[in-house]
Amino acid sequence: MKATLDNYTYMNYVNGQWRGSSSNEVTESNNPAKPDEIVGKVQASTKNDLDEAVEAAKAGQKKWSKMTGAERGNYLFKAADILEQHIEEVALSMTKEMGKTFPEAKGETARGVAILRYYAGEGMRPEGDVIPSTDSSALMFSKRVPLGVVGVITPWNFPVAIPLWKSVPALIYGNAVVLKPASEAAVTAAKVIECFDEAGVPEGVMNLVTGKGSVIGQGLAEHEDVTAVTFTGSNSTGQLIGKTVAARGGKYQLEMGGKNPLIVADDSNVDLAVDAAISGGLKSTGQKCTCSSRVIVQSGIYEKFKQKLLAKVEDIRVGDGLNTDAFMGPCATKSQFESVKEYIKIGQEEGAELIFGGHPVSDDAGGYYIEPTIFNEVSTSMKIAQEEIFGPVLALMKVDTVEEAIDLANDVDFGLSASIFSKNIDHILTFIDDIEAGLVRINSETAGVELQAPFGGMKASSSYSREQGQAAKEFFTTTKTVFVKG
Ligand code: NAD
Repeated sequence: MKATLDNYTYMNYVNGQWRGSSSNEVTESNNPAKPDEIVGKVQASTKNDLDEAVEAAKAGQKKWSKMTGAERGNYLFKAADILEQHIEEVALSMTKEMGKTFPEAKGETARGVAILRYYAGEGMRPEGDVIPSTDSSALMFSKRVPLGVVGVITPWNFPVAIPLWKSVPALIYGNAVVLKPASEAAVTAAKVIECFDEAGVPEGVMNLVTGKGSVIGQGLAEHEDVTAVTFTGSNSTGQLIGKTVAARGGKYQLEMGGKNPLIVADDSNVDLAVDAAISGGLKSTGQKCTCSSRVIVQSGIYEKFKQKLLAKVEDIRVGDGLNTDAFMGPCATKSQFESVKEYIKIGQEEGAELIFGGHPVSDDAGGYYIEPTIFNEVSTSMKIAQEEIFGPVLALMKVDTVEEAIDLANDVDFGLSASIFSKNIDHILTFIDDIEAGLVRINSETAGVELQAPFGGMKASSSYSREQGQAAKEFFTTTKTVFVKG
C-alpha cells in the first residue's frame, strides 16, 4: 500500500505524492471496540504542510479545469472501479477505526462507489442555459465555471461517504480539493484517497492533509487561496468556520447537527413505526446526523407503541462491529462515550423516566459500548429533548394531536430530518407543509439519504445550502453570463 510508510503510518497526499508532515509527528487512531488496538497512525500536520497542499491544488486546478468534463469523469470512473475492488478492505478499516458494524461499513463504501459514478457522468451533462437576448443579433448564455481550490472538512461518522459526496462533485466541476478528514477516521480517508492516486488523477487535484481541526481545519477556513470551504460536523465548529470564511469573502457550506423527530400518529402502522424508531434511532449507535432522537407519539397509541418498542429493543445485540450478530457497535470515541453517559445522567436528573438500558456494556477489551436507551414521557424543556446526544438514546414524548406533535417537533434549534407515520393524507400534507426540516420523510425512518437528491437542513442544522444530487452544482460552481455579438 502506497499510503503507508510501514504497516501503520499513513501519509498525507500532496501534489500526487504520499509524504510525511513537517512536524515529524503522528497521532494514533484506535479501535473503539478494543481501545488498546492501534488501527493506524496519521500525520499531525502543520500550517506549512497545508500551505504546500493549497499551492499544489492551485497549480493542479489550472490544468484540471482545462480538461473536458468527460476527461475528468473518466478519472472518477476509474477511481470508482478501484474503490469497488477494495470495498471489503476499506469497510474493515472503517469498522475498526470508528466502530460502525461491518455490513453498514460495506454499505457506506458501496455508496461511495455510486457517488463517484454519479458525478463521473455529470462531466457529460449541460453546464448552462441559452437565454433569449433582447438584441436579436446576439447570443446570450450562462456557463457554470469552477471556483478554484475547495477545502473539504469532514467528521468521523461517515468516513467514506461524506468526504466523497463533497470532494467528487467539487472535482467533476473542475475544482481542486484539499481534504482534511476527522483524525478519528483519517486512516479510512487515506484508503479512499489511494483510489484517486491509483486512478492516475493528475497531481495537485486531490490532496489529503491530516491533523488537528484547530490547525488544518482552521487553516483552510483562513486561507486566502481556498475559494470555498464545505464542512460537515458539529455546530460549534461549523459556526466558527462560517464566520472565518465569510470574514475573508469566501464561499462556505455547513452541514451540522440534528435533533430529529419521528412522529407516530394514532392511525399509523405501529409495527412499521417501531422498526423505524429502532433502525433510525439506534443503528450506527445513534451516530448519524439524521438519526431519530425524539419519538413523538399520539396518546391513543402511546402505550401500545411503547410496549412493542420495549419488546423489540430487548433483542438488540451490542458488540464489536465485526461480530455478525452485532446490531450496534461501540461509540466511536472515548469522549463520545463519556458524553452519551453524561446525557443519560442528565436525563435522569431532569426527571425523565429511564425505561430501558442507560448503562455501559462492559467487555474484556474495554470497548465503548452503551446499551440502547429509552426515556419515557420526556418533556420538551429537558436537555435530552433539545440537545444532540449522538448516541443510542431515544426520548419518547406524548401528545394528543398531530398538530401538537408538529409544534413539538419544531420546538428545537435544529431542522435536519423529520418523519411521520400516518395513513391520514391530511396529517401527511400538514406535516409536509409545517415541519421545519430539510429532509421530510413519510412512513419511513428519519435517517436515509439518496445521493441523487438534495441533502441538507434548516435552522441550526445547516447554512441553508444543499449537497448531493444536482444541488451540488450550486455550491461548487459559479455562473458566467455570456453575451456574444458578431
Ligand atoms: P467536529 O465539529 O468535532 O469535527 C468535524 C471536523 O471539523 C473534523 O475534521 C475536525 O477536525 C474539524 N475541526 C475541529 N475544530 C475545528 C476548527 N476550529 N476549525 C476547523 N475545523 C475544525 O464534529 P465530529 O464530532 O467529527 O462529528 C459529529 C458532528 O457532525 C455531529 O454534530 C453530527 O450531527 C454532525 N454531522 C452532520 C451531518 C450533516 O450532514 N448534517 C452529517 C454527519 C455528521
